Order: sequence, then C-alpha cells, then structure tokens
Amino acid sequence: MTQEVKEIRRIRIDKNSILFKLWKYFVSFAALILISIWLFQTVFLSSFYETMKIHEVTKVGNQLRAEYESEDFETKLSNYANTKGLEIKVLDETGAWVFPLRLFDEFIERPRMIWENFDKFFGSLKRDNRIYKIYTVRYENLKDPSIIYAGYLGNTNGEDYYLYINSVLKPVDATVDVIRRMLIIISFISLVMALIISYFVSKRLSRPLVRMSNTAKELAKGDYKVEFRKGEYTEIDDLSNTLNYAKDELTKTIEMRKDLVANVSHDLKTPLTVIKSYGEMIRDISGPNEELRNKHLETIISEADNLTALVNDLLDLSKVESNLEEIKKEEFNLEDSLYYVLDRFKINKNYSEYKFNIKSKGNTKIKADKSKINQVIYNLINNAINYSPDNKEIEIVIKGDSKFTEFHCIDNGIGIKEEDINGIWDRFYRVRDNHARPEIGTGLGLYIVKTILELHDFEYGVHSKFGEGSDFYFIATK
Ligand code: ADP
Repeated sequence: MTQEVKEIRRIRIDKNSILFKLWKYFVSFAALILISIWLFQTVFLSSFYETMKIHEVTKVGNQLRAEYESEDFETKLSNYANTKGLEIKVLDETGAWVFPLRLFDEFIERPRMIWENFDKFFGSLKRDNRIYKIYTVRYENLKDPSIIYAGYLGNTNGEDYYLYINSVLKPVDATVDVIRRMLIIISFISLVMALIISYFVSKRLSRPLVRMSNTAKELAKGDYKVEFRKGEYTEIDDLSNTLNYAKDELTKTIEMRKDLVANVSHDLKTPLTVIKSYGEMIRDISGPNEELRNKHLETIISEADNLTALVNDLLDLSKVESNLEEIKKEEFNLEDSLYYVLDRFKINKNYSEYKFNIKSKGNTKIKADKSKINQVIYNLINNAINYSPDNKEIEIVIKGDSKFTEFHCIDNGIGIKEEDINGIWDRFYRVRDNHARPEIGTGLGLYIVKTILELHDFEYGVHSKFGEGSDFYFIATK
C-alpha cells in the first residue's frame, strides 16, 4: 500500500512519464467530449430545434403544393394537420379561408385573414416573384414564436389560392434546464471515472516499458543473464526481441574479447619465448656453427613474421572497426590484385611449398577500394595456406562478365564443420581443436573480410566440406 502511494506521488511529479502523459490525454479527451455535449445541448439546442422545424414545415408545404391538383387534396391537408400537429389553411386571393371549412360555414361569412398579414405573407410572394416563403413571427396573443410557411398553390377558375402553415415553436428552455442539471451530474461522474479508469489504463499500458527499463538497468550493471520479457503488445514484443538480440551479441562479443585476450597473450608469448630461447641458443651454442646458426636464425625470423601478422591483424581490425576510413572506389583489375598479393606471400619461404593454380577469364575489372580488396584476397589466401597442412594445392578462380566478377579461393585443406560455418565470420572466432597450427591466427581475418565486403555491398560466402576443403568466394558488382 505504501509502495503504491509512493508510486503515485512519484509519477505525479514526473510529468514526462508515459503514464502521466497517457493519463493527461485520456482525461483531456473525456473533457473535450463533455464540453462538446455541453455546448451542443445548451447553446445550440434552440437554434438546432428551430432549424429542424423550419426544415419540417418547408418539406410539408412543398409536398402539399405538389399535391394541389390531386383529387384527395383536402384529405391530405387534414392528414398532415393531424399527424404533424400543424395548423394548415388554404386561402383565396381575398384572404378568406377555403380550408378547413365546416358545413355551417357555408351560411355565414367565411373568416378572413387580416389584410395586413395576408399582404405581408402572400402579397409579397408575387412582388418578389417567389413560390413560397418562411417567416418566424411572434403573435401578440401567443407566448411562443411560430414558423410560418406561406406558399402559392395555383390558379383555379381564375382565382389564386394560397397555402398557410403555422407551427408553434415549443419552448426548449425548460428542457435545456433539465438537461443542464443532468449534464452537471453526468460530467462530474464521467470526469471522476475518466480520472480513475485512465490512471489504471495508463499504468497498464506503460507497465511493460517500465519493466523493460528495469531489465536494461540490470543489464547495464553487468548481469548478462537477464531476459527482456515479451507480452501484451506487438511493439513491445519487437522491442524485447531486438533487445534480447543486442544482449546476446553483447555477451558474445564480451566472451570473444576475453578469448582474444587469452589468445593474443598466448600468441604473443609463444613466439617471444621461441625467439628468446633461439637467441640464447645462438649466443651459447650455435654461434660459431654457421649452418646451425642459420637454422636458428630462420626460426627467429619465422616467429617474428607470426608476430608481425598478429599485430597487423589487430591494426586492420581497429581500422575497419573505427569506421574512420571510408571506401575509395576506383576501377582496377582483380587479376592484377591477385598477383600483387601473391608476391607478398612469396617473400616468405614457407609459402613456396604451396602450388597456386590460377584460372582467370572474362572481364575481371571491378570498381572497389583497391587496398581493401587486396586485404580480402590476402586474408583468404592466408587462411587457405594456414588450413591446408597436407594437400598444398590452392586454386584461385576469377571469372567476370559485364555485370559481376566472381573471386574464388579454393583449398583442399581441413575444411569446416557444418556447425562452425556461421561462426567463422564473427570477431575472434576460431574453430577449436582442429587448427593445423594452433599458434596461427587470431580469429580476425574473416571478420575483416566480412566487414570490407559488406561495406562494398558485395555478396560473399563459403562452401566447405569438413576434411575435404573450402571454397571462399565473393562477387563484386561493377
Ligand atoms: P584465423 O586468424 O583464426 O584464421 P579467421 O577469421 O581468418 O581467423 O578464420 C576463422 C576460423 O575459420 C579459423 O580459425 C578457421 O578455423 C576457420 N577457417 C578459415 N579459413 C579456413 C579455411 N580455408 N579452411 C578451413 N578453415 C578455415
């Protein structure tokens, strides 16, 4: 209970919270509806009533005028008068009543409209060249105003006949008063209800967001086991999916970074130890023996190469990741790039053991960032060499047409297991237990390849069979 009270107080102060805003909108909406009803009922009711009456009287008048020639015209007149509660009269051109007539009226003089009124209603029709007119008049003997319809019926036997309809406007003030009192009560109840209901609705609507924010706080504190809960709304489901995905990626990266530190430390330590011990060996043992000394020096050089490769990988990674470098596209020949990269490998004696079978055909020109694509080719060939300990034949295929150029680096090495295929493109990912030379590689090469190719929007992938070899490829668009 105290928790609840605290909550409400906190939310009232926090005017930017979803809960407060939703609540505010709900209540404003309810108030707006109430105000509209008020305005309509109290201000516009009388004029609305009058407009409706005018409309009704006009309709009846026009209908009757249209029926004037019909045989049962008089019956219709009485019907309308009775059903609609209207006073309907037909007058001749002297202003005398023709309808309604009672039998004895034949013997006395027919009642007549005051000439002044007759002229006002009907005389003006001819003068203004109109068929009918509507008036709102206030008769002295009547309290309430009337709507008068004055229309010209037609000419029969040389005499003009007129239609007169009178509808008294019943006072709406009393009704308005009753409605007003009712509205005060209804408004009060509605507002209180809107306040209460909307508070709970808003609280319910904002609940998953509050929950999510709490989970995110836990994640921020370093608890990677938290789960963003789904439920209630599609949008929230989407959001928790995204956040869960982000959390998984974050966890993966953190774990891989831990791995990297371990790997890199190991990768640095091993060659350094080798270099140190071989250096000592040269100093103490092989110094004067040229043949042995050279052998030891070769090992030192090769280990230094490994160190250089590792440092280069780390540098490339930070370059690619920092996104500072944008791609600078130019047109160049992919085949030229291949030979340029292969030349770099040739410097290292070990690589001469490998046989490169190059097949190039078609238009091999592409438009891309040359140095970055060189790096892709370098990393792919480097992997092909590293993971082909026995069969040292590597095939490189470049084939191009007017739209695409494909590059394949096919080795007959150890291949990749099905379950590792998706992981190899991730940062710091190294297939465990099957490294031909575990001291080689940082798990960064393919991540760099992937990042560069995605920057170019080039399709890429690998076909591989464990124990048989791999075909790494990318397709450059022109
Ligand atoms: P690394 O520096 O470890 O080679 P990469 O990102 O280049 O890192 O490759 C990731 C992993 O993918 C490697 O550890 C290796 O297990 C696997 N891999 C890459 N290329 C090949 C290949 N040509 N043949 C077999 N496995 C490969």
